[in-house]
Amino acid sequence: MAKCPECKKEVAKSSKKWKYSAFTVELFECACGTKFREYSRNSKHIFTLKFKKGKDKSFVRA
Ligand SMILES: [Zn+2]
Repeated sequence: MAKCPECKKEVAKSSKKWKYSAFTVELFECACGTKFREYSRNSKHIFTLKFKKGKDKSFVRA
C-alpha cells in the first residue's frame, strides 16, 4: 500500500517489486495515471520517486 504523490489516493498493490542494492523498490501505478516508485530499506520507507507525465524516464523526488 502506498499513497499517490499526485492525487493522494492510496494504491493497494504494487505492479512490480525488485531489489536495488540495499533497497527494495516497488512500482505503483495510480488510477490517475501517475507512476511512482517507493524505496524502502528493512521494511522502512525511505523515499518516493514520481514519474513525470510526458517526460519519459524522468523521475522526480516526491
Ligand atoms: Zn494518483
